[in-house]
Order: sequence, then C-alpha cells, then structure tokens
Amino acid sequence: MKNIRNFCIIAHIDHGKSTLADRMLELTGTIEKRKMREQFLDKMDLERERGITIKMQPVRMNYKLGTTNYQLNLIDTPGHIDFQYEVSRALMAVEGAILLVDATKGVQAQTLANLELARKNKLTVIPVVNKIDIAGARVEESTEELIELLNVEKKDIFFVSGKTGEGVEMLLNAIVEKIPAPQSAFVGTKSASVCALIFDSFYSSHKGALAHVRVFDGGIRAGDTVNLFHKKIKFKPIEVGIFSPDLLKTEALLSGEIGYIATNLKDPSMVRVGDTIGENPLSGYEEPKPMVWASIFPEHSDDFPKLYDALLKLKLNDAALSFEVEGSRIFGRALRAGFLGLLHLDITIERITREFGINVVVASPSVEYEVISGDGTRKIVRNTEMFSESGKVKEIQEPWFSVHILERTEDISSTLDLIQKNKGELLETKTMPSARVMLRCVIPLRKLVSNFFDNLKSVTQGYASMSYEFKENRPSDIVKLDVFVAEEEVLQFAKLISRDEIEFEARRTVDKLHEILPRQLFALKIQAGSEGKIIASRTLSAVGKNVTAKLYGGDRTRKMKLWKKQKEGKKRLQEHASVDIPHDVYLKMIKRD
Ligand code: GDP
Ligand code: MG
Repeated sequence: MKNIRNFCIIAHIDHGKSTLADRMLELTGTIEKRKMREQFLDKMDLERERGITIKMQPVRMNYKLGTTNYQLNLIDTPGHIDFQYEVSRALMAVEGAILLVDATKGVQAQTLANLELARKNKLTVIPVVNKIDIAGARVEESTEELIELLNVEKKDIFFVSGKTGEGVEMLLNAIVEKIPAPQSAFVGTKSASVCALIFDSFYSSHKGALAHVRVFDGGIRAGDTVNLFHKKIKFKPIEVGIFSPDLLKTEALLSGEIGYIATNLKDPSMVRVGDTIGENPLSGYEEPKPMVWASIFPEHSDDFPKLYDALLKLKLNDAALSFEVEGSRIFGRALRAGFLGLLHLDITIERITREFGINVVVASPSVEYEVISGDGTRKIVRNTEMFSESGKVKEIQEPWFSVHILERTEDISSTLDLIQKNKGELLETKTMPSARVMLRCVIPLRKLVSNFFDNLKSVTQGYASMSYEFKENRPSDIVKLDVFVAEEEVLQFAKLISRDEIEFEARRTVDKLHEILPRQLFALKIQAGSEGKIIASRTLSAVGKNVTAKLYGGDRTRKMKLWKKQKEGKKRLQEHASVDIPHDVYLKMIKRD
C-alpha cells in the first residue's frame, strides 16, 4: 500500500484536466507515443465531438521516483456542473486532488465548487496553474488567487503546461511526495476481510455489470464469493482487473488499489454505485437531486420495453440519472426522468439514441413543485396530471437555488439586471483578487434552467462562471394553463407556469396550435385559459368546401368519390362532434423547443 498514490484532477471546465492527464500518460509510458491522441481519456465519441469530459475515467500508471516504483491511480473528472456527481464520487475513491487553474481564466466558479468538495472529503489538495505556455496568460493573478483561496504559499503551487509538458514531471514527483499513501478503512478495528467501494459501473453484454471499485481492505480475486452489503446478495466475480486505461485483467485487486470487477450479474439493478463490497459498510454516496424532469417517449410505442431496459443499463454508467414509469394518455407508457441540468438531459438523450439505437421524443423539461393541500398534506408534483389530482390546493411551493457567480467587476450592473429580471435576489458581493467579484444570489430554479447561464455569458462577454445548489422551497405563484380545442379540454396540452407568464404562454400556445392543427370541415375554436377564465382564443377557419378543386380536368368518378367521402366525413363529425388531433400535433406541442 505504501507505494500507491490515488488522486483526481479537478477544475473548472476547459482548464486542461484531460490534456494534463495526456502528458502524465506519456511521461509514465502508460500510452505509447504513436497511440497517443489529444484528451486520450475522453473515450466516448460524444466526449470527443463536444470536446468535453462527461464521465470520470480512472487509469493506472507506473512511475519510478529515485529507485522506488510507485503505482499512481489517476481519475480524470468532468468540469461541467451537470456532471458534478461524477466528481463527488471520484473524490471518495482517492486521497488527493490536483486543483487545476487555467492561467488565462483564473479561478472560476467550478474551481471553488470542486475545491469545497475535495475539502469535505479531507483530501490533500495540490494547487496547479496550467497553460503557462500561452503568451499573455495571467500567471501572477492566478497564483495570487490560489494563495488567497487555499491559504498556501507560492512555493506550494505548481506551474505547468499540459500542452508542452513543462513542469509535469515535477508535479508527478510532488504527487508521490505530498499525497498520502492509502490507509485501511478501518484503522484500529479488526477487519481482515475485503472492503471496497463501488464508485462507478457500466454494463457489458459479455461480463454483466462491471463495478469500478476502490479497495480499502483485503483483496478480491476472480471466483471469490463476495457480498454486496446494501443489495444483500453474494456473487462470484468472473474477472478482476485495472484500467490501463482499457480494461486489463489481473490476478487480484489489493488493498489501496483502484480497478474493476466483472460481476457476471445480468440484472443491471443489482449493482449500485455507493454500495460496499464486504461485510462492513463504508459511507456511501448522497442520492443526487434532479433539477429538471422530462418525459421520454419511444418514437414507436412498441419500443417501450427496449427504452426501459436501455435506461436501466445507462443508469449503471450514469448514477446521476433517475427515472420512473409514467402512464400517458396518448403515448402509452413513457419514462419520467430526472436530470442534473439541461446538458445532462441532452447527453442522456444522445446516449439513448447512439448506444441503444432507440429514437425518442422528449417533452419540455420542468421542475418539481410541492403542493400543499387544504388539509396540510404535501405532495411533490412533476406534471399537470399529478397537479390535477392533488385536490384543493392551499399553496404551491417551488425550489430556489443559491447561485455563486464569479466575474469581472465591470460586469456587476448588467448581472444585477439579469438577476432581477429572473426574479432573483442578491445576497452578497465579495471582491476577489485581480479586479474580480463574487456575487451570491438566490433565484427560482425554474428561471435558472431557462437559459439563465447563456444570458449571463452574453451580458458578461463570456467572462462569468457560476455554480449553484439547492437552497429551499418557497411559496410560488404557479397556475395551470388549460387548453381547449372545439370547446373540449385537451388535458395533454396543459402546463404549469407562473401567473405572470400566463398571458404570454396562453397566446403562444393558441398561436402554435392555430399553426399546426390541420384545418377541418368546420371552423375550429382554439382557446387557452386558467382558473376558469379564457385568456386567448383563435378560430381556425374551415377548409374550402370545394374538395375537388385540386383535381384538374373532369374525372367524374373520382369527383363523385370525394364528394361522397366529404358527406360521410361530415356525418361522422356531427355524430362525434369532436376533433381527432393527429399524433404528430401532440408531438409538436409537447416536444422540447
Ligand atoms: P478539461 O475540460 O479540463 O479536461 O480541458 P481539456 O484538457 O479538454 O482542454 C481544454 C482546451 O484547452 C483544449 O483545447 C486543450 O488543447 C487546451 N489546453 C489544455 N492545456 C493547455 C495548455 O497547457 N496550453 C495550451 N495552450 N492549451 C491547453
Ligand atoms: Mg476533460
């Protein structure tokens, strides 16, 4: 154990984590030079196309310092806040963290958020200023910020270029010297048996659920009988191994090491991230709290079982994903899934299509409300259906988030405007080194997820960064928008929105329906309103009576047929007096813009 070092690289997005990892892979000879490619650890196509890290990625490196051989287990992490759950899980598998700061940007919001996570886990943090090769990089300012932030001296900070490799060897030496070797999880207690934390997993069609583990005590070999503490099942791994970074089979995984075990369990729900392998539970992970919910329908309703299975398997590899089955009146069954943000939603949908070959339709995402009824019972409501069923409503509450914004001093006033426009409240401003400022505010989650960050970026010319977390539920002015076609309520089009947006939304909905509903043989009234009052109304005029106008020339029998059809159609309409809304109109209405 004493020659093992386990560490993560953490930073704000784009500060160069994966590129620094590249240089370490080269220096330690883990990857041959000819096989090297940029951001080697970003293995998914999706990561490479978008240039971002989505998944944490562990890799084992061997490094010789002096005459001693060390085993370095590095975990590269994502920087985008939507994937912070990955970071928090990676941090529990290691003893140290490299906190990387891009010298052209300085400390940004995720630098602070991730530093806080690392401190919570009592990790040894090594501050590093990156991209020193870039002319005009603000190395001095970044250093100053780190000194203040971490309460360290300049000599404790490392200066590197992930691009040229400058300073990376010194950093590797510091990792060996400063980060403590792993320790047994139960120091002082007697626990000779195996104890390992599952910090990630994925599904392999050959080997079943594969668990990424950090062994804290004992060892695991293929064929051993091991116990999943929380799931309360026993199984025999068919293979154990390490990340090289591809899976590489080994004899055993021993105390202090990071690697994988192939469980051969074909039911993906057996393996849960945060579970302990062994008889004494380690502290697991907090359940992630979804920010937005969205219904996902298979494009072909027959595909529902396939979609359900896909999400179960995807959840193995994305512990932040939550979902439940939801009955929908038009589409049959759907899945209601919770995400940590809109990027998380996008990525998940892409993965369902790419990795499982299922085409899906996604409804507009919404946040969760809490409805308090007359008798004081509280109920979480994620869609209009649940809302309608909640009986007499006394109060509706909605989530508010606490937001930290880091930006240039000169951008304060435009940011304050934006916060106000989004119904937020400023709580605090704090000056930071190098003419920057930190704003702390609270805003309703509903506003936060509707382009707040994009707007913040545009009013600050891209200089602002932000992080956020749940603060509390507050009373909210949410009402239900009801939609009527031919005087009949169409429940599927109902929406929950804030009272001050109801007029705008009513008009928008009516206009959109007016545009996409096919015209009928009679005039069609389209209306939207709330609480028993119609707010917007338009009439879709009937199709021209002359159904044969399109037929040039005089094919008499064809014309007769059409007239007959028209007559029959009218009769049918009179009998049922309702409108058949085509499937694709439903889709267009509920689909995310
Ligand atoms: P991550 O999101 O923190 O993993 O960042 P990446 O490693 O994906 O790097 C983001 C961008 O910064 C990429 O375009 C890299 O080529 C670039 N980059 C990373 N490190 C350096 C560096 O030291 N110098 C320069 N000039 N560019 C760098
Ligand atoms: Mg990366």
